[in-house]
Amino acid sequence: MDAAQARDWHAHHPPEVLDILETSEHGLTSPEAGERLSVHGPNTLPATAARHPLFRFLEQFNNALIYFLLAAATAAFVLGHAVDAVVIIVVVLVNAIVGFIQEGKAEQALSAMQDMIAPHTRVLRDGRRQEVPVGEVVPGDIVHLEAGDRIPADVRLLETHGLLVDEAALTGESVAAEKHHAAVDMTAALGDRRSMAFSGTLVAAGQGVGVVVETGSRTQIGRISRMLQSVERLTTPLLRQIDGFARRCTAVVFTGAVLLFLFAVFVRGFEWTDALIAVVAVAVGVVPEGLPAVITITLAIGVRRMAARNAVIRKLPAVETLGATSVICTDKTGTLTRNEMTVRHVATADHVFTVSGTGYAPDGAFTLEGEGDAAETAARDPIVLCGLLCNDANLRPDWSADGDPMEAALVSLALKAGLDPAGVRGAWKPVAKIPFDAAYRFMATLREGPAGEIAAFVKGAPEALFAMAGADFDSAAWNARVAEAGARGERVLAFGMKRMAPGCGRIGFEDLADGVTLLGIMGFIDPPRPEAISAIAECRSAGIAVKMITGDHAATALAIARQIDLADDPEVMTGAELDALPEDRLAEAVQRVSVFARTNPEHKLRIVRALQAGGAIVAMTGDGVNDAPSLKQADVGTAMGRKGTDVAKEAAEMVLLDDNFASIVNAVYEGRTVYDNIRKVISWTIPTNGGEAVAVIIAILAGFAMPMSATQILWINLVLSATLGLVLAFEPSEPGIMRRPPRPANAPLLSPFLLWRVIVVSLLLTGAALGIFFYGLAAGRDLETARTLVVNMLVVAEIFYLFNVRYLHMTSITWRGALGTPSVLAAIAVVVAAQLLFTYAPFMNALFESRPLGVIDGALIIAVGVALMLLLEAEKTVLRRLGWFEELKA
Ligand code: ATP
Repeated sequence: MDAAQARDWHAHHPPEVLDILETSEHGLTSPEAGERLSVHGPNTLPATAARHPLFRFLEQFNNALIYFLLAAATAAFVLGHAVDAVVIIVVVLVNAIVGFIQEGKAEQALSAMQDMIAPHTRVLRDGRRQEVPVGEVVPGDIVHLEAGDRIPADVRLLETHGLLVDEAALTGESVAAEKHHAAVDMTAALGDRRSMAFSGTLVAAGQGVGVVVETGSRTQIGRISRMLQSVERLTTPLLRQIDGFARRCTAVVFTGAVLLFLFAVFVRGFEWTDALIAVVAVAVGVVPEGLPAVITITLAIGVRRMAARNAVIRKLPAVETLGATSVICTDKTGTLTRNEMTVRHVATADHVFTVSGTGYAPDGAFTLEGEGDAAETAARDPIVLCGLLCNDANLRPDWSADGDPMEAALVSLALKAGLDPAGVRGAWKPVAKIPFDAAYRFMATLREGPAGEIAAFVKGAPEALFAMAGADFDSAAWNARVAEAGARGERVLAFGMKRMAPGCGRIGFEDLADGVTLLGIMGFIDPPRPEAISAIAECRSAGIAVKMITGDHAATALAIARQIDLADDPEVMTGAELDALPEDRLAEAVQRVSVFARTNPEHKLRIVRALQAGGAIVAMTGDGVNDAPSLKQADVGTAMGRKGTDVAKEAAEMVLLDDNFASIVNAVYEGRTVYDNIRKVISWTIPTNGGEAVAVIIAILAGFAMPMSATQILWINLVLSATLGLVLAFEPSEPGIMRRPPRPANAPLLSPFLLWRVIVVSLLLTGAALGIFFYGLAAGRDLETARTLVVNMLVVAEIFYLFNVRYLHMTSITWRGALGTPSVLAAIAVVVAAQLLFTYAPFMNALFESRPLGVIDGALIIAVGVALMLLLEAEKTVLRRLGWFEELKA
């Protein structure tokens, strides 16, 4: 293969291309593909270079606060306070290391998510259609393209059916290009190479088959070496809010610190170096600089927990939004139901058959309803044949479906009727087809029969087929049959056939406008997923409304809605009815109606908008190309991992690996937990910082000895923020989390209750710290011992307060509450060990000017801690009785 050929694939005829690539329409064998993969390399583009770890580490120091601290350390060193300088440097370093590790963990968790939904594509290998990761596609592979696919490599098309490709990613052209397999002129510009489908572009409609000609960086998109997917920024509205808060905090604290410093030196006559270091320490203590990192971790843990439950987050903000979701709009087929279809009823003009069996294994038989003799069994043959010939699916040897489940059920039905699918399909050669599309709800194939006759076989939604039927068609009778099957919860498909002129080689919509002979209808059963039923019950208790939005018939949808207990008395509205409603009436209707049937993707968009106009936070599922706008519009666009198209996945915030409704509800559960934990982190962190700062500020203002030295303040921050501050991110959900209504979308993070909590706890901690300080001095201890008491008091109080914060919605005094989680216990063990070192190790005594404490002192400190916790528990109970705060009511 020389370079010239490589550029001119579009100008060659398909057989030449296949020859050059040493392949055929039947594709490669697996060993050949493996060999080519080692020659050509993986079909990937070079990733954008990740930030070097060293830079990531250095970035930790790029922070006004750190500059401030480093300046203070330098000043301390120059002025002969070498120990203080060293402690400050150590604190800065440890802080940076902790921040670096935390950030790395969060980034890792998120990039692992991306790998979980690495795209796959359908190729023909070993004569079978297989799904392989896009990275393993090699030149010579035969690929199948369908609406919604992202084209995996540069492909020379061999066969197309209404194939439209959106090439905006490559050419910037927004109108989808029509594709065909005929060679085009050698000099054609990229946008005019109709016989090619280029890597990274999107199939907007139709189907096609092609041979891969170039992969990886040799593709057109690889040549211009532009990354297709930009790396998601690791931020969310909440994180930005907190970042902003931390930054504003820094500014305020900086000003306050300067004033406090001046006051300490000029009014209180402190040594200016001492004052500087103390003020810097307080400033560092007050600013919750570690908060954004801890919250990122909390989000990342949520992302991981969601992934473990089959919900992969593509965009980080969805983690937050999920917790506030108030309406879930879901598909029916495959999401609420299993998407394992079996034909149960076959109705022709004069006969109705019941078919036994479940699943795709062809174990089952036809029973004629009513009276009739065996000869009449033949009445089923034309419709069964049509079902087999208007069909792209196959059954695997283990009787699983390869292709559309409804079509697989039709293959199984043909086997039950004694037909040989391969033989029949071989006898009726494919000529042309109109692929299925949810927009027109039917599919047609044109085939040439054994005697050379040409016929079109059509199957689709009954309305679509009835509209094609001839004049002698009894619409009332057929509609009654459809309604009957629908009421049983069956998905109904109608079948028709039309003889075409000999030699006819193509088929279009106009050929089917009338004169199609209706062969009959079939009813498919698709049992509800048991876990969807319990998930719906959970939603109902959690105040989340569930709306079924389906392309299916109203009667079928309603019957399924009843089976899964979607709402008390589910009301159904069809897409046509919805079209007739003006916007203002629609807003009201979407509240009331829980089943939307015979909808198309535009209806979905209108429904989301109407729900959002009413203040709802909407999660919406989708899988097709045309679902992308409504997925983007929804607050949590949710794409199906299995049957979803690449386009839908890329538009979505979340991808369900198992296409299961229950996974959405699990994600909401985890989302609520994440939000709770963020609130816990905040309501624990801020008073920690507040308490010690207020104590020191009071000391400076009132002019008594500092209750802690500067290095001791830094020590407290270091010990606590790297341990206890982090465990709240790992907290499991509080019981009853799905029995609360969704949080209002505009609820502030710092709710009135949390604000109250922050203030009360800060003051209590200040009180405890100063109380024990003066107790120590009054009992005749030296200043160093009194300060050691204070440091231990604050740390112990924080440990007890942690237990308190772990349950914001209920009492913490339970077995579960007292036992804690492994991470809580581990963190406490670390803190206790650190405090013991701080208090008793001679080198720590030297470094921090701490002093060993007696048993009585220790007992006193713990007693105060317990008292503090009991006080806050009592406060929770009293406040709940008083009913002041919303979140304590539930
Ligand atoms: P749900 O929203 O419950 O998942 P859906 O959106 O998958 O349903 P569509 O796939 O849009 O439903 O199908 C709508 C209708 O089109 C079906 O009720 C059926 O009548 C018809 N239909 C679906 N698949 C095919 C097919 N492969 N061939 C012909 N007609 C089909």
